[in-house]
Amino acid sequence: MINEPMLRVGRVLHGTTAEGPGLRTAIWFQGCSIKCKGCINPHLFSSRGGTQMPVAGIIKDSVAAGVEGLTLIGGEPFDQPNAGHALATAAHDAGLGIIAFSGYEYETLRGRDESTRAFLAEVDLLVDGPYQDWNPETERALVGSGNQRFIHLTDRYRNYRPELVRNRIDIRVGPDGTIKVAGFLDSASLEELGGLTSSARTLRRP
Ligand code: SF4
Repeated sequence: MINEPMLRVGRVLHGTTAEGPGLRTAIWFQGCSIKCKGCINPHLFSSRGGTQMPVAGIIKDSVAAGVEGLTLIGGEPFDQPNAGHALATAAHDAGLGIIAFSGYEYETLRGRDESTRAFLAEVDLLVDGPYQDWNPETERALVGSGNQRFIHLTDRYRNYRPELVRNRIDIRVGPDGTIKVAGFLDSASLEELGGLTSSARTLRRP
């Protein structure tokens, strides 16, 4: 019997417009070995946190939500190369696109093991590089620091121009009153949201 691929995730959000072009499923990978200074998601650092989810279930729910593709964020997606590869392959088989964020640079990922390269081969648009708190991004959507690059590995998102779109914020209030936020928030926006975000632990800076 073949083991079903499982992904360790901090959160999955279906049907958001805050994490890239079109309607998307955003998946926050649990675990990050990079630990950038100033990262807004330190609760995703531990590789033992979050929950294990079957890849097939994530794809099924994404298709049911009618999304164009997946945005893989974190945490660090490439710290789970086998599960990431399985997820991205299944997504492409279902006709979904893949945008992946990584704190590692493209050249580093290309020089890694076979499973990392296989995962990379299933990514349409890679946004690479660590968050640099001393180098804030002021023009482009989706990224927090000026060093981060949008690298088109296929033509699927070739027309996406992060310098021409505005960041969006996705705020959802649960039945129990908890508030979860997705999308890019700079420090000023975070302060404005203030108490609202005290229970929202799924923000993304890079
Ligand atoms: S910014 Fe991204 S790569 Fe850097 S520590 Fe946070 S989750 Fe990891």
